Amino acid sequence: MQKHNNVEKTVYGHHIVPMENPWDKKEHIDINHVFAKIEDSKEEIYPVTINEIASEQKDDNNLKAYFKKEKVEGTSRNKYFSLKVIDETNVVAYKDTHLVIPKTLQSKVVQWYHHYLFHPGQTRLEETIATTMYWRSLRSDVQRHVKSCDTCQRSKKHKRQYGKLPSKIAITVPWQYVCVGLIAPYTL
Ligand SMILES: [Zn+2]
Repeated sequence: MQKHNNVEKTVYGHHIVPMENPWDKKEHIDINHVFAKIEDSKEEIYPVTINEIASEQKDDNNLKAYFKKEKVEGTSRNKYFSLKVIDETNVVAYKDTHLVIPKTLQSKVVQWYHHYLFHPGQTRLEETIATTMYWRSLRSDVQRHVKSCDTCQRSKKHKRQYGKLPSKIAITVPWQYVCVGLIAPYTL
C-alpha cells in the first residue's frame, strides 16, 4: 500500500491531492514577471511619515521659510502656518493642529488614504485626510482622484431602478388561464 505523508493525506477525512508547485516548472518562471505588477504601477502606494513630510517641506519653496526664525525679505508667510515639534521632528503645521503637506507628497497622501480606506467616496476621503492634514487644493485633488479611479467608477451605484411589475394580460377567453392560490398547512 502506498504511503502518504501528513500534508497530502487528510483534512477532515477528505483525501487532498497536492497542488502542483509552480516553482517546479522553472523554465516558465522569469523573476521579472513575478514582480511585473509593481513595476507597472505608476506610483507605489505607501503611507507618508512625519520625517518624509518634514524633509519634503524643507525642499519646498513655499514652506522652507518656516524653518528659519528670521523673516526673509520679500517672502510672505501664511499666518496660520508655524513650526511644531511632532515626534521630535520640526514640521510646518497649519493652525497648530494639521500637518502641512508639501506639493510633492499630496498625491501620495490621497492615494494612500483612498487605498487604505477601501475606496471611499469624495466626502469621506476628504474629511478623513482633513482631520490631520492640510493643503489648499485638497478638495479638488480628492475629487480628481476619485473620479479617475477605475475601481470607484466601476462600482458606482446605478441610478436605474429594477422591479417594475409586468403589464397585466387581459384574459378574454374563459378557462384560457387558471390561477390557483395555495396556502398550507391548515391546523385545527
Ligand atoms: Zn477608488
